[in-house]
Amino acid sequence: MITPAPPPPKPLPAVQPPTAPSGFCLDALSIHVVDAELMGAVQAGVDLLTPYFGCQKFRIDGTGLPVKFGPVTPLLNARVLGYAHSTPASYEIWINPDCWGVVGEWSSVVAHELGHYLGWQHGDDHPYMWLAAPPGSYAQPSDFAIVCY
Ligand SMILES: [Zn+2]
Repeated sequence: MITPAPPPPKPLPAVQPPTAPSGFCLDALSIHVVDAELMGAVQAGVDLLTPYFGCQKFRIDGTGLPVKFGPVTPLLNARVLGYAHSTPASYEIWINPDCWGVVGEWSSVVAHELGHYLGWQHGDDHPYMWLAAPPGSYAQPSDFAIVCY
């Protein structure tokens, strides 16, 4: 029986690999998480976009862009997961409260809606603008909206 020689130990790197960027971008945008229950999902969504910018593009500081459970109206209809609600006077991100307990993973949904806030469009080259349906949801065949079960 031949025992292979153990691989030589790797030399210690002279320079430590860069840690994940945690600082805020100089032009970071403020977010107001209106419903405290959403805090974790919003921070996770911000974190998903951080590698793209190389810094945190959004700062959750209780001012600026509201992220909240939206009113389930024709705009936020029929179990659509989220909505970037824009009027000339305001911009809000709505999460469908009817889907909150059904969908298992919200960070990519938040990242997608934050992308809309940045002016990104479906299917452009920005991250999360082609959104795979997270667990508990599916792409509705008629209009490809992502809806919860
Ligand atoms: Zn969208």
